[in-house]
Amino acid sequence: MRIVSGASTDTGQVREGNEDSYLVDRRLDLFAVADGMGGHRAGEIASATALDGLRLAVDEGTTVADAVGRANTAVWDKAAGDTELAGMGTTLTAAVFDDGTLTIAHVGDSRAYLLRGDRLERLTTDHSLVEELIRDGKLTEEQAAVHPQRSIITRALGVDSSVEVDVYSLVLQGGDRVILCSDGLTSMVRPAAIGTILREHPDPTAAANALVDAANAAGGEDNITVVVLDAHAEAKDPLPSSVAAAIRPRAPGTPAPPVEVVEPTAVGVVTTTTSMDAAAPEPQAPAPPRDTARYREPARARRGWRAVGRVLAFVVPILVIVGVGIAAIGWYARNSYFVGFEQGRVVVYQGRPGGVLLWDPTVVKRTTLQRARLQDDFRQSVSEQKEFGSKAAALAFVARARAQQTPTTTTTASTTTTTAPVAGVTTTSVTAAP
Ligand code: MN
Repeated sequence: MRIVSGASTDTGQVREGNEDSYLVDRRLDLFAVADGMGGHRAGEIASATALDGLRLAVDEGTTVADAVGRANTAVWDKAAGDTELAGMGTTLTAAVFDDGTLTIAHVGDSRAYLLRGDRLERLTTDHSLVEELIRDGKLTEEQAAVHPQRSIITRALGVDSSVEVDVYSLVLQGGDRVILCSDGLTSMVRPAAIGTILREHPDPTAAANALVDAANAAGGEDNITVVVLDAHAEAKDPLPSSVAAAIRPRAPGTPAPPVEVVEPTAVGVVTTTTSMDAAAPEPQAPAPPRDTARYREPARARRGWRAVGRVLAFVVPILVIVGVGIAAIGWYARNSYFVGFEQGRVVVYQGRPGGVLLWDPTVVKRTTLQRARLQDDFRQSVSEQKEFGSKAAALAFVARARAQQTPTTTTTASTTTTTAPVAGVTTTSVTAAP
């Protein structure tokens, strides 16, 4: 037996970008669909990162369930290393074919269906809010299809360091057709219509394209991705698709019998839940409301501490960077000296004229040198608050100014001198109350 596949993906009619990704690896007989979420391009990166991690792990001989765990780690690590990607996540529905058996590993609300003859059977259970409500008998399938919170998922890759993975094992028969699809298909096209379209297109690529077209025709409100897998009974099957042979021949004009739709938990599918986390199993609890996000995290006490750890992982490096920046600015602000006038006399300051951010200049030395007695060029330099690279250079300047000052000791001129306060220097003035 061998698999012949086709795939199609489309942005749809509403979304700006396509955050879905799919994987078709014929060498590994590995197929997958991932539906990413997150701001800007994060969703796109999440789904692509998950598929890269999955393929790498399967290629190294990891089971598909463990490979989904590795994909989770890849997305988690990438999100932790980039604040722009924080909070990103993705669904992942992966199938690996080996020796007649298709093993499906699944997290999220993308789906796998099996078309066998006239029956379309859903193989996967959605990890979504509405699916939980259906399971509890609070919603019907029809109500769920139009529920405003139908896109909220309760399990996703990349939102925690570990993830529970549903694993399904299916022994394929020749003529079986399996599809993997994102919710952009299933939210727009009812299962019966999906079954009908699959039967109408023997070629897997044509079938994938036709499903994407149907979702777009119905509104295309989300990204749409479909991977179609056809099981060929013989290794060298000459037919383009065994699905064509599986469809019963009928007289021209005779309508095809309706596709029987079977919801999951029905037939011959082994369902196990695998936890990638070696720690003790965590109790499941109802999810808290968070309407704006596609992912709704189950409420668990441990998550609080994980969140704290995650926040610290972001905050601590930022604090270090900010601290180094402040130190650098402080060093710049204080690693200079300048001269200025204060009450008609030359003063040497440490710092920058006017100060830098929080660092105001401080007085190093108040001299007895009077403004009125300075040579013109020295007076101008002091007025312009000439800067020096060291305290010694500043004091040397003062010494030269003193040596060249006007020899007279007459101080009458200084009484008319007005001085401007040095900008940024903190001066305290006390005003007596009248
Ligand atoms: Mn989607």
